[in-house]
Amino acid sequence: MSAHNQSTATPPLGSVLVVGGGIVGLASAYYLAKDGWKVTVVDRGDFTGNCSYGSAGMIVPSHFTPLAAPGIVMQGIKWLFDSRSPFLLRPSPSLSMISWGLKFMGHANEKHVTRSAPHILALNNLSRDLYDGLAAKLGNDFGLEHRGILMLCKTEKAFEEEVHLAEKARALGLKVDVLNREQMQTVEPNVMLDVFGATHFLSDSHLYPPALMSLLLQRLKQLGVTLIPHTEVTGFVRHSGKITKLLTNNGEYSADTVVLTGGAWLGQLARKAGITIPMMPGKGYSFMTSAFEGKLKHPALLIEARVALTPMGGQVRIGGTMELAPINHRINRKRVEGIVSAVPQYYSEYRLQMPDEKNIWHGFRPCSPDGLPYLGRSKSISNLIVAGGMGMMGLSLGPAAGKIVSEVARQAKPSTSIQLFDPERFN
Ligand SMILES: Cc1cc2nc3c(=O)[nH]c(=O)nc-3n(C[C@H](O)[C@H](O)[C@H](O)COP(=O)(O)OP(=O)(O)OC[C@H]3O[C@@H](n4cnc5c(N)ncnc54)[C@H](O)[C@@H]3O)c2cc1C
Repeated sequence: MSAHNQSTATPPLGSVLVVGGGIVGLASAYYLAKDGWKVTVVDRGDFTGNCSYGSAGMIVPSHFTPLAAPGIVMQGIKWLFDSRSPFLLRPSPSLSMISWGLKFMGHANEKHVTRSAPHILALNNLSRDLYDGLAAKLGNDFGLEHRGILMLCKTEKAFEEEVHLAEKARALGLKVDVLNREQMQTVEPNVMLDVFGATHFLSDSHLYPPALMSLLLQRLKQLGVTLIPHTEVTGFVRHSGKITKLLTNNGEYSADTVVLTGGAWLGQLARKAGITIPMMPGKGYSFMTSAFEGKLKHPALLIEARVALTPMGGQVRIGGTMELAPINHRINRKRVEGIVSAVPQYYSEYRLQMPDEKNIWHGFRPCSPDGLPYLGRSKSISNLIVAGGMGMMGLSLGPAAGKIVSEVARQAKPSTSIQLFDPERFN
């Protein structure tokens, strides 16, 4: 089977095969198809079971600090001894995990943060604008709203740190309000808040991920993109510095250009293609609740608890935890209890029930060790473009990644610098 053979008309730009149908793969397919490529997307699932679906739906220019930042290592060590903590590092004797951990520690410093912040922010700002464009083109049935995100702090210490971050954000051009308890209550008047204070990142937005994904899938079909579910890429054939064939459980595929996404599985896929892309899955959980009865106006991050709340179509999606460990599909109830019990500490009227296991979604954030995306053309495989590793902000960055993939594919200048995002920087 060949992606070449599926159409008789020769498109002007040739064929592209996108591996992975999460937000990064679908957004890539969208911008590539609009440019005139003949696009095929293969996914080993049915396009609905990926990390993008269950995410908290936050569009986050506020997240200009990479996960690898000063203080995270010490904080992580403290959290190791708390079974309900928002962070879990499950040590594994695998060499790749040790190597990822060492690289992560090597990047958790101020110099790395200062260097990376403007680049991450530029990508997020681009994405936010592209989301507006998508809402205009696809119709905003995916609930894109620009109300900002509240960073709620219980303690004075966390508040001071958030105020410091807000100052940095303003210096980078973001609009942020600093709110004391009373001001906070005015912004979110319908629920009782038990917090010391908050910052309000006005340039952040939110949306409903499943609606976004299904609208994108519909639009891709209209654009003539071929979507192939239940097809797992298992290997690559390389010849003269190019990928000539993709091997799958469902036959062989070929295309002029290959775009590798794959989320938390990008590292494994890259290894099969013969390049090194360190990746760690960061498992997280989310569930929906109608407990807030439509009263919550703003998405919020509960800073000390690292829990996210996002209003979505009358309900609220609550998500959190970061388990850095080899992929496993167990629901760790203690971690979910940690999320559930954090909510009334901030919203004192809302004591939530532990959700049934069948209603707890889990997904794997694709985490690079330096907290930066992998985005750009491979230096060793000339027809390969990589897009992934966006960790906690893959939904936010998806459209920008897709747009840049399309620009790289046609050798155009990327809309924003991808200098720090070289997919083979750890080779
Ligand atoms: C609890 C939680 C909350 C989150 N909240 C937010 C948020 O508010 N905002 C935000 O920006 N981000 C958020 N994220 C992170 C975000 O969800 C991810 O960064 C993003 O979804 C990654 O998108 P992706 O396309 O790279 O990967 P995915 O969405 O995981 O898609 C990868 C796809 O590749 C396919 N695939 C893998 N291997 C193969 C193979 N061998 N062959 C074929 N197909 C393959 C998979 O089936 C999958 O469909 C959250 C994550 C979690 C866990």
